[in-house]
Formats: sequence, structure tokens, C-alpha cells
Amino acid sequence: MNAVEAARYYFNQAADHMGLSQNMRKLMLTPKREVKVQIPMEMDNGEIGTFIGYRVQHDDARGPMKGGLRFHPEVDADEVVTLAQLMTWKTAVVNIPYGGAKGGIAVDISQLSRGELERITRRFIDNIHDMIGPDKDIPAPDMGTNAQVMAWAVNQYEKYHGFSPACITGKPLELHGSEGREEATGRGVVIVTDAVLKKLKRTLAGSTVALQGFGNVGSFTARFLYESGAKVVAITDVAGGVRNPQGLDIPSLLRWSADHKGVTGFPGAEAITNDELLRCEAEILIPAALGGVITENVARDMRARVVIEAANNPTRAEADEILQKRDVVVVPDILANAGGVTVSYFEWVQNRQHFRWDLPRVRQELERVMVDSFDRVWNIAQEKHVSLRTAAYIIGIGRVGRATVLGGI
Ligand code: NAD
Repeated sequence: MNAVEAARYYFNQAADHMGLSQNMRKLMLTPKREVKVQIPMEMDNGEIGTFIGYRVQHDDARGPMKGGLRFHPEVDADEVVTLAQLMTWKTAVVNIPYGGAKGGIAVDISQLSRGELERITRRFIDNIHDMIGPDKDIPAPDMGTNAQVMAWAVNQYEKYHGFSPACITGKPLELHGSEGREEATGRGVVIVTDAVLKKLKRTLAGSTVALQGFGNVGSFTARFLYESGAKVVAITDVAGGVRNPQGLDIPSLLRWSADHKGVTGFPGAEAITNDELLRCEAEILIPAALGGVITENVARDMRARVVIEAANNPTRAEADEILQKRDVVVVPDILANAGGVTVSYFEWVQNRQHFRWDLPRVRQELERVMVDSFDRVWNIAQEKHVSLRTAAYIIGIGRVGRATVLGGI
């Protein structure tokens, strides 16, 4: 099953439990709007580069649509549609008043200069500024984009629409960003890891973790795990990875990775490949990079008993079935990585109120949302004897479905 089929499969598993009609399924799965744009721009060497950008608005029954902008060579129409749909269920699972959207550009940012990255961002916003906005659709960072990219994006949007910081989240603090947004997804991942371990009568302190990805999500996840006393025994990024069964020294690894543009070569640790990481000796596996990395073979060989899906779509549907049969507990992406969109919501609220929250308040509110959402998903899973993924979909689809019916067609 590819990612589109997998998203439909997960949706239908929950819809079957709910007895959802075929008409409602079709309505809820069909995106509201899909846009594909040409992005021409002048490269530093004077040549013309032509790129393709996408924005998919999946559903707005519960509020303005919300979803990240991904700059990655593998971005295509199917991926963006799938990720937009995931956003609809994710915002509903954590019960924030948004629908779902996603966007991106098929581009390898490692091949772009800073000037080219700024120009491609601005040209993309030129193409989609009419369809986004604080009450319509609010982009945010995702793979390959960060607060700086959001700063250029909001600046370009405001050239058309005037002062409107709430049109994009994940902005730098100096430009109406929120305290705690950058760390939010990683922090949320660690909050749900702690919550699931408590249910399993275990503790974060002393647990062993293997982590794939050391970008925004992976690096903050590693930091908060380390601060909680967990042992992060292996970490990889796009170029490879490092392993130390005694636990990696995360503060030193963060400095090493910043200085050497990656984790490879970190002293006091042995080299490990991405494939080895997924199968390595650790109680908890946290994929925090690409989709589709937990294949059937990985699911069969995996030693971890708990998987926390920090990345979007990291587990293939066939692999998910194997993990269920093996009683591996999987906390699904639409819950595990929802910390980012939750603090994006806090940023939007602050922008609209022109009032700033301090970091303790952001962290406290995030903890409340993540723990409440986790408990609800866990309880539904116990009650209905379904996986945490199906339980999360039941909650998400239920909330979107009720809003759709109440609003009327
Ligand atoms: P990022 O670009 O900051 O980091 C990506 C990391 O993945 C880097 O360490 C990179 O080296 C690694 N990577 C890339 N290709 C790889 C490969 N082939 N094998 C192994 N590692 C590889 O991205 P991010 O924002 O940290 O996002 C990571 C994942 O989390 C994505 O799936 C994204 O959709 C999801 N996510 C991000 C946020 C957010 O707030 N940034 C929120 C929710 C979900």
C-alpha cells in the first residue's frame, strides 16, 4: 500500500467501527481544494529554475485549515493530499478549532543558497497568497522549512494583505512567533511517551530509546528525553548515525551536530546505519524523519516494544498490522506529533489577541492538551478493544463528522 492507500485504510478501519455511511466517507476523504503551481525563479548563476509547489486544503468543517509547508525532493501531489488529510484528523484529536491542510515544494534545499531559498519561498507565497490567511488556511514549518522561511513567507503575504501575523505560525519570536513553538513537537512527543509508559507501568527515566532524525523534531525530542532521564542509545540523520548502549550525551551531540552538520563521527559512539537503528536494541523506537520507514521487514525484526510516531506516516499499513499482532504499542502520528500544531494554535491565538504568553504558560497548556488527548485515545482503545491508531481516528473522524453534519451541506 502506498501512503494514499494507507491513509484511506486507517480511515476505513475507524469508519467501520463507527458504522459511517459510504456517502460520509466519500465526503470526508475528498479534499476541498488542491492547487499545484509553477514556481519560476532566477538562480544565483543567472539561469532560470522551475519548481512545482502544492497546497491542499482538505477540510474546514471545524475551522480554518492548518498545515505545514514541506520543502523536500520527494514532495508530490499524493504526499501532500495524504498529509493534509492527516492534519484534519490531528487537529480534531487534540480538539483545536482547525481543519487540515498541507503544502510544499519539490526541491532539495541542500542545493539552494540562502538567497535562492528566500526567493523560492516568496515566489510560492505570490502564487498561493489568495487562498491562505488567518481565517482560511494557516501554513507552518515542516520538513525543510523553519522559522526563517516562515518569516519570509509572512513578509511576502503582508505585501498583499497588510499586517497579518496570524496568517502563518512557527515565526521567529521577533516577528510575532510564540515562546515554545520551536520545541513544541519534540516536547509533545516526550509528553506522550511519558504518558504511554505510565500506562504500561514503566517510567521514562532509565528507558532506552532509538531515534531516527535529528532535525527540529528529533533534536528537541532527544533533549527532553535526556532531561527526563531516558537513555537515548542511537540516533541517525540523513547521512548515518551513532550508537552508544550506555546512552548518548545529548547536549554534546547537539553541539557536535550543529558544528559538523550531522551526527556522524560523534566521538565515543559507534557508527550505525538508518536500517540498523530501526532494528537496534532499545525499548522505544521514535521515527522522527521520513514517512514509510517502518516496513514489513522492520516490523518483524524490531526489538522495540513501543513506537512513538514523531514523523508523519512513518509506519506502512502492512507493517502496522504486524506490529499489532506482535503487541507492539504504537502511538500514532496524529496524536504523537500534535504538539507542534497545538502550539501553532497558541501562537495564532496570541497574534489575534496581541498578547504574549510566557514559556511556562505555553508548556503548561501544551502538557494539558497532550495528556488529555492521550488519555482520551487510550480510554477509547481500551473500551473498544482497538489499537491506539484506530482509537485516535475514531475521535478525529467523529469530531469532524459531527461538525460537518451540524453545519449542514
Ligand atoms: P527537519 O527537516 O528539521 O529534520 C529532518 C531530519 O530527518 C533531519 O535530521 C534529516 O537529516 C533527517 N532525514 C532526512 N532524510 C532522511 C533519511 N532518508 N533517513 C534518515 N533521516 C533522514 O524536519 P522536522 O521538522 O524535524 O520533521 C521531521 C518529521 O516530523 C516529518 O515527518 C514532519 O512531517 C514531522 N512533523 C514535524 C513537525 C514540526 O513542527 N516541525 C510537526 C509535526 C510533524
